[in-house]
Amino acid sequence: MNRYISSRNRNDIVTAHQAIIKGLSNDGGLYTIENITAHIDPSEVLHLSYQQTAEKILSAMLDDFTEDEMHACVTGAYDEKFDTAEIVPLKQIQEGWLMELWHGPTCAFKDIALTILPHLLTTSIHKDDKKEIISILTATSGDTGKAALEGFKNVPGTAITVFYPEVGVSSIQKKQMATTTGRNVDVIAVKGNFDDCQRMIKQATSDPLVLSSLDGVSISSANSINVGRLMPQIVYYYTSYAKLVESGAVACGDPVNFVVPTGNFGDILAGYFAKLLGLPVNRLICASNTNNVLTDFLNTGTYSIHRTFTPTISPSMDILISSNLERLLFMASGYDDDFVSEMMKNLQKKGSYSVPKEIMAKITATFAGCWTDEDTCRKTIHDLFENEHVLIDPHTAVALAAKKKYEQETGDHTPSVILSTASPYKFTHDVLACIAGEDMADDFAAMERLHALSGVKIPPSLAALKDMDVRFTRSIEIEDGMQVIADRMKEVGNVHD
Ligand SMILES: *Cc1c(COP(=O)(O)O)cnc(C)c1O
Repeated sequence: MNRYISSRNRNDIVTAHQAIIKGLSNDGGLYTIENITAHIDPSEVLHLSYQQTAEKILSAMLDDFTEDEMHACVTGAYDEKFDTAEIVPLKQIQEGWLMELWHGPTCAFKDIALTILPHLLTTSIHKDDKKEIISILTATSGDTGKAALEGFKNVPGTAITVFYPEVGVSSIQKKQMATTTGRNVDVIAVKGNFDDCQRMIKQATSDPLVLSSLDGVSISSANSINVGRLMPQIVYYYTSYAKLVESGAVACGDPVNFVVPTGNFGDILAGYFAKLLGLPVNRLICASNTNNVLTDFLNTGTYSIHRTFTPTISPSMDILISSNLERLLFMASGYDDDFVSEMMKNLQKKGSYSVPKEIMAKITATFAGCWTDEDTCRKTIHDLFENEHVLIDPHTAVALAAKKKYEQETGDHTPSVILSTASPYKFTHDVLACIAGEDMADDFAAMERLHALSGVKIPPSLAALKDMDVRFTRSIEIEDGMQVIADRMKEVGNVHD
């Protein structure tokens, strides 16, 4: 059986389903699979459906789920909620391939994990015969919130509360969240940035006021600190590689680079798990926007948040504290919990930490960092449309530009898959400005205009927002976070369905 151990205390050991229920360990550490004993050769997933590949990979990683349980989770998640039977299509462009991860219900890559997480979680609760209501607390930089709300709304035995930064998310992202239906959901704006929201929910799991309000309720997380978020993201690295082999673009076993627009380091870490499982991954290119803390870390070994936080047109990557990097440090240090605890203490106390050379060498053997400024991001969107008539969102553009920069710097021209993480229509205003120089204040008029110019279909779930009622308007101060969460936990505990 796989063991999941806390990155800050090796003696805190749980199984996969227990890690999914808990989210974060009591000491604030992240549950990390101790070693990956399974091996899945890419030849084993050729010509399989997305669902079949998902079952194979998830069963290997979350090995305390029975075959029947995993089958039910996978088929419950990857169905007509996605607008293509492929779930994750691959589109060729001159620079390589775009892995389109935004064909789910909320038009962002978060849907891949958040359509299955509620199934994994309710199955886990069932296994333990738990009677408590699981209260999901989620911080979002824009996309996780809506995907988690859609995944968990009206799921019996659960309640979900989303915290998002009042300034920073796109107007469409905000409207998506504020119009969510369902009886077990709440959406709260925070006068702060994503890091403040994430810190709030991490703090809540050990805050005395919050703990005293938990009557019949236990807290979990739908952020990528949850193992149940991370593991489903391994699947598409395999399916896209299989597509390359099936189309004859690469021979089975040949190395491929993946370029990942990165915020909380969850998506790219899943790529690393894919490599450890047996996928021939050459380099994982960590693409950042102006908030390039990860680029600096990968280039210098020092992680420092002493820098200005800059809102960009790729808001889902406007993050200074990338939580999942902690898991990579844990793995690269040979599961040294003392080392990780010390680094995280330094981050909290001094706002920075430095990683010894030997550990950095292990990390940079696979990971490379490149960042893209706002002008280059805009130009990348413009040029790809102009030259190839392909429309991409700003996050994908950050990755595409980083890929070119990486190749120039290294001369490494291994075939590359660029992870395309959001529908361009989620960021209509900025995408339209990039391709046509038009500044349209009304999102829905802008969608129509973008459609007229590109011929790309507007996702029905985004078009429908126009006529939906705004349900949630509350905005809170950071200092009031623990009180607000405590009150919400009492409310959740009083609801019996
Ligand atoms: C969340 C998100 C990212 C960053 O993914 P991480 O797993 O946080 O690194 C990139 N692009 C989009 C569109 C996202 O929603």
